[in-house]
Amino acid sequence: MSRRWRAAAPCVMAALLSLGAGSGCGLPERPAPERGFRVRYEKSDAADRDEQRFLRDRGLAESTAADLNAYVGLPYAVEVVARSCHGEGTGYDPDTHRIELCYDDLAEQRGSHDDEELSALVRETLHHEAGHALIDALDLPDQGERAEEDAADGFAQVMLLRGRPEGEETLLIAARDYDLAAAADPVPDPADEHAPDAARAESHRCAVYGYAAGRREDLATPARAGCAATWARTRDTWTRDLAPLLRH
Ligand SMILES: [Zn+2]
Repeated sequence: MSRRWRAAAPCVMAALLSLGAGSGCGLPERPAPERGFRVRYEKSDAADRDEQRFLRDRGLAESTAADLNAYVGLPYAVEVVARSCHGEGTGYDPDTHRIELCYDDLAEQRGSHDDEELSALVRETLHHEAGHALIDALDLPDQGERAEEDAADGFAQVMLLRGRPEGEETLLIAARDYDLAAAADPVPDPADEHAPDAARAESHRCAVYGYAAGRREDLATPARAGCAATWARTRDTWTRDLAPLLRH
């Protein structure tokens, strides 16, 4: 969430793109849930066509939305809109309750990742943005941008580790991606509200190690001795905060 938001695409564009559901333009609409996370694809720029196909074929946004909807009941719809963002970056917009997932972000990451890794990065990113959406829906106290970013990373950890068996690997792949970003750009941008990339990488590894409770000796370091407690705190804080929305 580090970008300037623009108005939604005008109706004429929606008509041209046959957007259908949720466009609010009087078009014949596909049935879409009135609440919860839901997914829509916008037509991609020519340069991003392969990335759109990749996302659609793998159903990454759909399976993430299904996992989220099985866990929490949102009081309104949050739309995941896959689109060409021209470098503006994936993010959650609290004004429109939209998560914009950028084809062009994926194209950028493709250079250093294979398809399985890319899928993991999309899942981790979507869960992070869903964390922002839930902080918004729950109207949690504002503790500053950095605290919110850390909480969104924590939500991704909680969701990925409680859900599918590949969750640990998903977080470790994301951690390696943060390592790459840290190596490429070792001086953190002071204007970036996120934790430095190296810290985000370590946060994910610490969560996996803490969650695994002795199962992941490959991740053991003296510095991670406190990770079981850190993980428990992240899980318990989110479980408490999510209580009004939890399905079970
Ligand atoms: Zn964020």
